[in-house]
Amino acid sequence: MRTALVIGTGLIGTSAALALSQRGVAVHLADHDPEQARTAAALGAGTDEAPDGPVDLAVVAAPPAHVADVLADAMRRGVARGYIDVASVKGGPRRELQARGLDLTPYLGTHPMSGREKSGPLAATGDLFEGRPWVLTPTRDTDTEVLNLALELVSHCRAVPVVMDADAHDRAVALVSHMPHLVSSMVAARLEHADEAAVRLCGQGIRDVTRIAASDPRMWIDILSANPGPVADLLTDVAADLEETVRALRALESSDEHKRREGATGVEDVLRRGNAGQVRVPGKHGSAPRVYETVAVLIDDQPGQLARIFADAERAGVNIEDVRIEHATGTAGRPHPAHGRAQGRPGPHGRAAGAGLGDPAVTPVSPPAPAGGEGVRMSEGFRGASNLVRGVSAPRTPHPTAPGRCSSVENGAAKPVIVAIDGPSGTGKSSTSKAVAAQLGLSYLDTGAQYRAITWWMVNNGIDTADPSAIAAAAAKPEILSGTDPTEPTITVDGVDVSGPIREQDVTSKVSAVSAVPEVRARITELQRAIAASAVTGIVVEGRDIGTTVLPDADLKIFLTASPEARAARRSGELKGADLHTTREALIKRDAADSSRKTSPLAKADDAVEVDTTDLTLQQVVECVVTLVEEKRAGK
Ligand code: C5P
Repeated sequence: MRTALVIGTGLIGTSAALALSQRGVAVHLADHDPEQARTAAALGAGTDEAPDGPVDLAVVAAPPAHVADVLADAMRRGVARGYIDVASVKGGPRRELQARGLDLTPYLGTHPMSGREKSGPLAATGDLFEGRPWVLTPTRDTDTEVLNLALELVSHCRAVPVVMDADAHDRAVALVSHMPHLVSSMVAARLEHADEAAVRLCGQGIRDVTRIAASDPRMWIDILSANPGPVADLLTDVAADLEETVRALRALESSDEHKRREGATGVEDVLRRGNAGQVRVPGKHGSAPRVYETVAVLIDDQPGQLARIFADAERAGVNIEDVRIEHATGTAGRPHPAHGRAQGRPGPHGRAAGAGLGDPAVTPVSPPAPAGGEGVRMSEGFRGASNLVRGVSAPRTPHPTAPGRCSSVENGAAKPVIVAIDGPSGTGKSSTSKAVAAQLGLSYLDTGAQYRAITWWMVNNGIDTADPSAIAAAAAKPEILSGTDPTEPTITVDGVDVSGPIREQDVTSKVSAVSAVPEVRARITELQRAIAASAVTGIVVEGRDIGTTVLPDADLKIFLTASPEARAARRSGELKGADLHTTREALIKRDAADSSRKTSPLAKADDAVEVDTTDLTLQQVVECVVTLVEEKRAGK
């Protein structure tokens, strides 16, 4: 093909023109709006000047409602040797042209199966059709030369030609596109007048089912008007299923056991048929559906999270086939969206977390892996490499009766274990907690660092730390994020890494006063509970009031103590710019303040195990706590 005329320079027409021009075809552009043709020409799609004589192929890319008129006009004028259209419905235009008494030998109906959510020439791209099916609907009468020209066009656009009968095509698109669109709209329409309280519960399922209902109704009226029969046939089948299902559900309400059983069978039948249909949805690039290992990961809602997961996958030598992000509801309007992750959704391990605020979960899907294979390596890679990833499930082969390329990992892991380790400063809480968490594959949270972080923010923002009301008024302002990898815990305030500054003397001397303010405690306690609730495998939380106030239902509570001398010696090595004597004095003062404050003071919970670490090595304390956790897990 040397010359082409594209009539209709919207998204599809301009994209085809761009691809043809890039392959050296001289393309002429026409549109009922000359301005639009000029835009397409300016984009490099061709020239908006009319051709001198007939071109090789005319590509009519007008909306379905106008396609027959535009084709008839072009054919009567004899502008090309062959004519194709790219409308999404094929039987109608052919019949209309026939009704107008036109010779249909130079005409071929086609439909490239690609598009974008945007329209117009500015959204066009020369690679829009790459790898996508392009349906061709030749009849016995179609001129072979026209079919060859169309195949050449498809090849220039790097699409995949699929030959079909025009009516079969229309039934097919009714099945895979038009009918689902209407069903999606009908489901979404139920939400229009629903209570706000109900709508707030929307999760990923309803998002999946209603996503396409957001499209422009005018465009869809056009499409459906061109294919009403096949869509109506399919909706009749759907209506029959609906009636059956309603009957089955009513039977489930009955007090008669026999009827209830029948009802259950009816409902199960529709669900099973749904499984059987769903697995037929082709996989990537139209290939047969494949079963992949799925790895579910809870992530923080902050920049760089996905990049980190991809980098971890690369390190683990895993090719990510697909990614799905699920956002839980309820983060809207929250001042600290990054913490929503912890509060919201029942995680992939079935642990229902807190108050229903949302986190994104990412599901990278790797190719099928035998036990101990790629999926497992991927989990290990994630676990080892990412301090921001909350946890990784054990990959599992999807359920044999319902295979699918994106099936979710269900709860195959043990129930998350929550360990609270409280005690005064210098008793070895941090070192013990980190080591126990790392050894048991749990998350770790340093709550003292959170109180230090908020204190650092107060100091930095000129808040008078001697004035509880000033502190209370500012308590909600800083955004505090804790990374919970025990091998690399992090703490940021408004995105700034403060792990160094919060250990400075200035912060240490003020933290007890700041953390005594009830508004500060309420804010930080909320964060702590959220983080604990999102820990997939479990968490070790260290602090002063974890066992008594923050997590009173913790699976295991430890209260560490040590002599003031031992504690001062340990702390002075840790805190910058402090000698032993000063540290001891400051520590005793801080303990007194922490123990005597009104709101959740430093205290041992009644059911905590007290461990005096004065004469124990770190390793001994860790072994002791690990043994206690393991005993708890074993139900002893
Ligand atoms: O553990 P660390 O010494 O870093 O804690 C600093 C301070 O944070 C404590 O002295 C205490 O005032 C406060 N804090 C608290 N409740 C916690 C943890 C720490 O009040 N759960």
